[in-house]
Amino acid sequence: ATPQKAPRMKPWIEAIHAYAPGKSKAGDGRSLIKLSANENPLGTSPAALEARAEAVMPSLYPDPDSTGLREKLGELHSIDPARIVCGTGSDELLNLAVQAFAGPGDEVLFSRFSFSVYDIATRRCGATPVEAPDRDFGTDVDAMLGLVSERTRVVFIANPNNPTGSYLPQDELARLHAGLPADVLLVIDQAYAEYVAPEDDDGGMALAAAHENVLATRTFSKIYGLAGERVGWGTGAPGIIAALNRIRGPFNVTLTGQKAAVAALGDQDFVRNSRLHNQVERQRFVERIEALGNHGLRPLPSEANFVLVLFEGALSAEAAAEGLADRGFAVRHLPGQGLPQGLRITIGTQQQMEIVAATLREMAEAAR
Ligand code: PMP
Repeated sequence: ATPQKAPRMKPWIEAIHAYAPGKSKAGDGRSLIKLSANENPLGTSPAALEARAEAVMPSLYPDPDSTGLREKLGELHSIDPARIVCGTGSDELLNLAVQAFAGPGDEVLFSRFSFSVYDIATRRCGATPVEAPDRDFGTDVDAMLGLVSERTRVVFIANPNNPTGSYLPQDELARLHAGLPADVLLVIDQAYAEYVAPEDDDGGMALAAAHENVLATRTFSKIYGLAGERVGWGTGAPGIIAALNRIRGPFNVTLTGQKAAVAALGDQDFVRNSRLHNQVERQRFVERIEALGNHGLRPLPSEANFVLVLFEGALSAEAAAEGLADRGFAVRHLPGQGLPQGLRITIGTQQQMEIVAATLREMAEAAR
């Protein structure tokens, strides 16, 4: 038989490890309560659900420029809508940022233990990922700055960071920005910004307003409870927004997504409740895990809607994940990201967190 020919993947695409989403099923096919994807346990604002249900014109393309959504975002955040771009989730914008500003031969810099999409976004454009060492699982600004080279084109920082939950305060973020050459794009990924206390620390929005080389991105997937609608947005200087607009999908945000997002922005009570719920339950959960310190469990400080728990004693992260699955809970084990000893656990409802903490205690006490 003649040998079959098939299209050949580009070598830089072959080098990519596909994004591995959190599981929602146990090995035996049972559905699990998902504390593995940092979704909002309170669901979605009723106003957003209503607006989404009323948006019925599926035969027509949506507004290609998400005009109403950008206006509402501009109003809420005091930003000129011309400085805003919306995306199919913030994922799309992170990918576009690399595509627009880096290519083969260029470097994209980010910290170890940061969001796995940065690596994929870099490699798919043929650019070279450069990973800075962490400091106590958080961002080390000096290490990052030390790795900036003439080939660096884009720098990513997630603030708060996923999967560690760490947060760079305003002055540290400003120091990172000040140390970068003016022609390097700094992407401040604020997917979890709305969870941060104090609420007046904007996590980098002011930098994006003041400089030509900063893009801040946010999402409706987390505190706004609209992960399924895939809506994200970014803000920065007109030159950056224009570059992303050239290459984004022409109708990249669905009609239901635009309508639901506008309504969600109008329900800031829901946002406040979600933030408060998260603060209270995260604190309670962290205290319960800290009490298991003698068994080697260590929660990392988190400003986000999840906690990374390290397992440094007899109970391994892997065994803990299995035990939690047996009780019906999916959490995120991240061996592929250099964290075989960690489980990232989304803050769920009060009852869910009680069961998770009690299960971990039982397992930790039984392990030897
Ligand atoms: N940035 C970070 C740090 C995230 O954790 C996520 C979601 N996992 C995203 C961006 C992307 O979210 P979305 O595409 O749903 O906006």
